[in-house]
Amino acid sequence: MKILFASLILFASGSNLYAQTPNIDAIINPKAVENIEKVLSSDVMRGRATFTPDIDRAATFIETQFKAAGLKTLNGAPGYLQPFALVNAKLISVTASLDGVDIPESAIAVSSSSPHLVINESSGYEKIFIKEGSAAVDVIKYLSQDKKNYLLLVDTSLSKRFPRIKSFALQQFKSPRNVVIVLTAANPSKFSITVEQEVSERKLANVVGILPGKSKKDEYIIFSGHYDHLGVGQPNEKGDSIFNGANDDASGSTAVMILANYFSKLHNNERTLVFATFTAEEVGGFGSQYFSRQFDPARVMAMFNIEMIGTESKWGTNSAFITGYEKTDMGKILEKNLSGSKFTFYPDPYPEQSLFYRSDNATLARQGVPAHTISTAKMSEEKFYHTQGDEIGTLDMKNMAEIIKSIAISAQSIIAGTDTPTRVDATQLR
Ligand SMILES: [Zn+2]
Repeated sequence: MKILFASLILFASGSNLYAQTPNIDAIINPKAVENIEKVLSSDVMRGRATFTPDIDRAATFIETQFKAAGLKTLNGAPGYLQPFALVNAKLISVTASLDGVDIPESAIAVSSSSPHLVINESSGYEKIFIKEGSAAVDVIKYLSQDKKNYLLLVDTSLSKRFPRIKSFALQQFKSPRNVVIVLTAANPSKFSITVEQEVSERKLANVVGILPGKSKKDEYIIFSGHYDHLGVGQPNEKGDSIFNGANDDASGSTAVMILANYFSKLHNNERTLVFATFTAEEVGGFGSQYFSRQFDPARVMAMFNIEMIGTESKWGTNSAFITGYEKTDMGKILEKNLSGSKFTFYPDPYPEQSLFYRSDNATLARQGVPAHTISTAKMSEEKFYHTQGDEIGTLDMKNMAEIIKSIAISAQSIIAGTDTPTRVDATQLR
């Protein structure tokens, strides 16, 4: 670790004096990868489970790395931590009447972080009709915003979908907005709704840093991975109870930190680079969902999400795959930038696993962003996947360094602003 830092300081001062390009191998190499990977995946981190002090220790380590790389914070935040809260609201009672007609509790769903709500037609709620023949998603889209209070009147033709809508309304980010959903065929001019809830809050945080662009500051390129894992569980036959998550996804988080360091030393990014490690991937992807909300999707030019790059791919070393490859031309741009190298990016060979939809790229991809996940995981036969055996000893540091280097090199023309990947056609997504 000390030797690495000494050499980086030399490079930093050298590049100031002579504007020379740092040697990529001096920054991205197996030793540098191992130095970070071994800390994140150590037993001391106890598997980095969301909502435990263990993941907080991992966050502190990542902050230290971002600081050493000289990253700035996102939107002038006081630090690299991007804190947020998940709210668990348990309905105690709800009463509603529409034009004086009482509505049964089973026909009401509430999405709110408030313990008490008393609303009527003069409370400033926007009334929206979800008409006959609509889909559940037409209702759910009103839940993923923080700005407005809504009363959604959902036509009774959606009654079969209502349990799904109800469960979607429950799990949520802490938010000042309230949405009340009523299954009804009525169009009331007066309404009265009272809600009592028991509300508890759980805090969590992503870790995010940026390198502002030289000429295109408001065009973002995201490099990300998730730093949470499964924590401590039952001991296996060897008595090991810690799910270290060395591959899943300490490897992706390590890549993010190494790339941050590299691009900081390179110091030539025209677009703004965002380095993000997400919490809560394993428990529902809340970290990347919250992170994604902080951006105008139109301003995000590309997202490189990195997940499980510690083992060799089904094609062997020096190769990785890109999920959703055919959905944009980003993969082709990356390939072009890698031409002449020994490295190959392939389309995702496991489409039946829906990795494009299951990983932290999905939220932004659904809003049109060319957001892909890069991985080497042999999904059908990754034998330590989600086991206590996912440890650093099963990973290939040399190949990991090559993958991280390839991501850095393949991204160059996008970072320079000379290439811009095409957008995902969100209407074509499942
Ligand atoms: Zn996992």
